[in-house]
Parts: sequence; structure tokens; C-alpha cells
Amino acid sequence: MITLVPQLYAQWRAECLGLPALHETGPLRAPSEHLLQQVWLHQRLRHEALWTLDGQPVAILHPGFLNREAGPDFHHAIVQLGESPALVGDIEIDLRPEGWRQHQHADNPAYRDVRLHVVWEPGGAATVTLPTLPLHTALDAPLPELQHWLAGGAETDLPPAQVGACAPALRALPARPLLELLAQAAWVRFERKAAELEARARQSGWRQALREGLFAALGYKHNVWPMRRLAGLLPRLLPPPEAPAPAALALQARLLGVGNLLPAELTRAQPETDSYLRRVWDLWWREADGFTDAILPRSMWRFHGLRPANHPQRRLALATHWLVEPDWEGRLEAWLTTDLPPGVAARTLADRLQAPPDDFWSWHWTLRSPRLARPQPLLGLPRATDLAINVLLPWLWVRARAGGNQVLRRRAQQRFEAWPAGQDNAVLRLARQRLLGGERLPQPHTAATQQGLLQLVQDFCHCSNALCQQCPLPERVQTLVPGDAKPREAAEPC
Ligand code: SF4
Repeated sequence: MITLVPQLYAQWRAECLGLPALHETGPLRAPSEHLLQQVWLHQRLRHEALWTLDGQPVAILHPGFLNREAGPDFHHAIVQLGESPALVGDIEIDLRPEGWRQHQHADNPAYRDVRLHVVWEPGGAATVTLPTLPLHTALDAPLPELQHWLAGGAETDLPPAQVGACAPALRALPARPLLELLAQAAWVRFERKAAELEARARQSGWRQALREGLFAALGYKHNVWPMRRLAGLLPRLLPPPEAPAPAALALQARLLGVGNLLPAELTRAQPETDSYLRRVWDLWWREADGFTDAILPRSMWRFHGLRPANHPQRRLALATHWLVEPDWEGRLEAWLTTDLPPGVAARTLADRLQAPPDDFWSWHWTLRSPRLARPQPLLGLPRATDLAINVLLPWLWVRARAGGNQVLRRRAQQRFEAWPAGQDNAVLRLARQRLLGGERLPQPHTAATQQGLLQLVQDFCHCSNALCQQCPLPERVQTLVPGDAKPREAAEPC
């Protein structure tokens, strides 16, 4: 019989995962930023030892919510410095105070709500520009122990502060009323979007309202305003409806030129890109004088943290294909008048939104990207779902309502309610974490359920704070919970 030596598994694990020995002594090595984030998230700190570098005691009322995208590490934290009133804002974590300058956070608008800079250890005094909190003397356990704790799966645990006060009641709600509540919230959101499109249509017509909505949606979250501004200029940038449609390349030149998105220099390294740029510049320089008053300041665009597929150059190239196609909007309306099963309806619309193959843009993500090995569609399925849910279906529905067409109005609503769920994202994950304690949304998994959850966040979380103060939702949901209900078993974490 083989007898294992005590602690053999722990030893294997430490060796395989590269963990320091728990009893390791010697000079304290700096932890990774990832470990510091987890220490902050789980508040593995001695709270009485929290002092800023300029000598103020720090009280953490809420650590904030971990941001997995570009920008500060935590959003919506609540901290109190000395006896000042509590501050609500973001937390940035770096190893040393110099990180703030080295990473150019001061010049990045995404960091303007940072209230506290959390660092591992102090650096040069001259580098401190924000209230700065060092953690190296405030951990609640030695660093090696915290590394073992993290490696033991701490990351997948949801700290209690990350779960909202409404989560117990929402999780005790049976699936059917929960789905109904989310469906109702989703419909509020849908009607709001439809009302916005209708208001724009009253000012500038249905077609222009749709174009503005689509351009804004193509701006994704980074570039909504410059895209909306370009859409507002379309009546000037496009030939009159009775004139022949321009070629896609000519319109790309004009939109990229007015958008100030054309690089002034050739790459000199990518012949295909340089050939495209020469052709576009050749078109644009002839007409640029006529549009000088409309050219957008380049500073309107945000490129930091942007995926190449979402780059505005690529999005505008897609939009030009829509704009040069005769009666493109009529084809969308025809999609609604055709009776299609739900799954087929979504695929058919995605096909209609897709651009035909483009000599340059099917093979390059942006004007700086090398040629791709395989052509890529100008619009992926997840973005097609976003456009359908946020713009096209509300536009078709409100247009049918305005025209008194009950059949099309009902069909637009049914398509919205049955639309397959969109791609998961950080906003939805945070919403599930706060409102459902990390539980998955109940089946059927539709885009409308996701929209309903986002509407709850907008209506309630955005009117409260990370501590859920004065939020009426928990009490309201509690009135729907049957007396004998128990919270649903936590499903696989999201
Ligand atoms: S603010 Fe309200 S809706 Fe948001 S998590 Fe807290 S209790 Fe829930």
C-alpha cells in the first residue's frame, strides 16, 4: 500500500502553479496587479491600516464593481477620506503612484471619475496627483497566503458587496413571473426607443430617423456622437433622391473625409492599403473645399480600447453600402411583411444588413490593418442583433403604428419578443451579478430578457448607489414572491 506524505498535494499544487511557500520569508516582492485587484474586490485588508500617502484615514464603504473593459479597475466605489463626505467614483489600481503618469491616465477622459488611486507601495512624492492609498502594509494576510487564496479559486466567488439588495427577492421569484417582469421592463425600453425614433421622424422624416439611429448604433459605445453627427449631415452628403446613387467608393471617400478619418500619410508598407488610400484621397481632395465647415474635429473620435471590428472607418464603409443601395429601407420593410419563423427571421434580417463583398474592407479591419487571410463580413451576427433590437424593430413597429397597420405592428412586436439572445457582455454580466447574484437568466434566453434586465439597471441601479440605498425594487419584488418560495439554486455562474 502506498502512503502519501502529508501535504503532498499542496506541495504539487504550489510547484505546478508557481506559488511561493506559505512560510516564505525575505524581502516582500510586489504582487501582480491582478492579485491587487482581487484583494481590493474581496477587501482582504485591515481597514484600520488604510491611510493615504498624505495622511488621511480611508474608509471603504463599497469597493465598487470590477471593470473588465478598458478604463479604471473599479466603477461606482464609495470611499470616505478623513472626515470629508463620502465620494462616489472610480478606483484605479497600479503597483506604484508613477503608474498614473506612465499609463497616461491623467489625459484619458475615461479616468476623470477616479477618486482614489490604490497602489502597492509609495513611490516618489512628486508623482502623487490624486489621493493615493498604499496597500503594502494593510493586507489582512501575508502576500504568499493571499497568492494561495487566489489560486484556490477566490476569483470565482462573488463577494457579498457585489450582490444587490434585490437579488434575494428576484431569485426567490419563480421563473414565470420573473420572465414576465423582465418582458414588461423590456417593452418599456422598446417603446422608449421607438418614441425617440418617432420624434426624430417628425423633424426629419422616417428614412433620416432610421439612418441616424443606425449610425449611432454603429458608433457602439465609444463613438455614438460623431457617428450621429455624420448621420445628421447625410442630407447634405448624399445626392438628391432623384439623382443616380453614387459608387460605394465615392461615398466612402466623402464620409471618411468629412469624418476626418483619412490618414494624411500612406503606410508605405502595405501596397493594397496605399492603393485604396490613393483612390480615396483622389476623390476626396476634389470636393473637400465644399465641406470644410462640416469636417468633424478628429478629437471627437475615441479609438482607445476599440476592437478593430468596431473601428468607425469600418463601420462607415458598411454604412456606405446601405446608402448606395436603391430603396434599402424598402427591403427592410419587405422583411417585416414576409411571414417568417423566428429563427429564420433573425437570420434573414442579418443577411439583408450584410454588405456585398468590398474589395478593400472585406480584407482589412481598418486602414492600418494588414490583409486578412480570409475575407471577413462587414457586420457580424452580434452587431446585427444589436441593430435589430435597438433600432430596426422599434423603427418598424412605430412606423406601422403611425400608419395604423395593426398586422405589421403586432409582427414587429412578436419578432422583438422572440429574437434570440444577443452576445453576452460586461454590462449584462454585472447586471446578473447585482440583480441575480450571478445566476443565469431563465429560459427561454431571448434578447428581450436581456433588455429587461438592462432596463431594471437603468431604472433602479442608476438612481441608487453601490449600497442600494433607497432603492425601492427589493420591496416591490418581495410583494410578488410566494410565501413558501425559496431562492432558486444558483445555476452555473455567469
Ligand atoms: S440598486 Fe436596486 S436594482 Fe440595483 S442592485 Fe441595488 S437593489 Fe437591485
